[in-house]
Amino acid sequence: MPTAKANLVSGSRQSPVLQPVSIGCLKEVPAVNVARGCSFGCVYCYARSYRHAPAGGEVYLYANLVEQLCGELDSPRRRKPWPRYVSFNTSTDSFQPFEELLEISYGAMKALLERGIGVSLLTKGWIPSEFLDLFASHPANVFVKIGLNSLREDLHQLYEPGAASPEQRLDNLRRLERAGIRRSVRIDPLVPGISDGVEDLQALFRALARLEIRDVSLSYLILRPAILGQMRRELPLSHSRLIESRYAGSPLDRVAASSCTQLLPSGWREGFYRRIEALGAAEGIQVEICRCKNPDLSVGLCDLEGRAAFRAATSGGAGQLSLFRRASV
Ligand code: SF4
Repeated sequence: MPTAKANLVSGSRQSPVLQPVSIGCLKEVPAVNVARGCSFGCVYCYARSYRHAPAGGEVYLYANLVEQLCGELDSPRRRKPWPRYVSFNTSTDSFQPFEELLEISYGAMKALLERGIGVSLLTKGWIPSEFLDLFASHPANVFVKIGLNSLREDLHQLYEPGAASPEQRLDNLRRLERAGIRRSVRIDPLVPGISDGVEDLQALFRALARLEIRDVSLSYLILRPAILGQMRRELPLSHSRLIESRYAGSPLDRVAASSCTQLLPSGWREGFYRRIEALGAAEGIQVEICRCKNPDLSVGLCDLEGRAAFRAATSGGAGQLSLFRRASV
């Protein structure tokens, strides 16, 4: 297991654990974040600029999170029915390699699954086998997306320095498949001029096809002032200048709950998405473009949190194939 470089600070959670999310496709699905801050330190992370995000790469762990979550679910004063499923990791990652954090992640997921509530998660961490055993006991109620933008180790070190290596994330996919757990891959963000080279994408799709991944969701980077600042501080000048030049002149927009975002020019994006879809299709992989992050393009819904999977499970039609159908909502 990799070790985390950040400091872990233990505290207690005062506000409700189940929180609404403002991101388009996750709206109406409550989210759980087991900590504030994230040791993975992705250079493109929007959550690092949140008002309450800890400075200096610290991670604040909510030591009472499981107890509080159970209290919220089982409170006699609770008016709402339990959610069908809960989304993990909208602003941190449950699989950061700190023992205390992993224990809390495990406890929270177990508490939900034991109540018949589904767990949907996106991670760039390495998933310990105890979690796979837990998920395997509730296969219809778990959906895991692995975030993987490139197989290149140099880009991993620069862009996601604390996250699991690309090989470890491929290993997650392998072990999830063996454990019978529904899984998919999210390639997001693709960084223009950096991680979208044809050969790199072909290598990634080929590796995913070998693991029988048939469906990925994908989007280019959405630039915000805070992300640009992180890139200028943390990337080599040649990278940050190249990225900046690709977005130069793009108007400010309102995308994914933020009013200060810049998208790549739409014509450029559309052309590249088409080429990437063709690269995926050559390996038998369907590429779904994230609609929330491309509201100006007519693209499908990428189903970030596995809505289709949970709907299929609810209607008694759970099965691997139903996961891979393009969502119709
Ligand atoms: S894993 Fe997610 S939450 Fe953690 S730093 Fe990377 S983008 Fe941010």
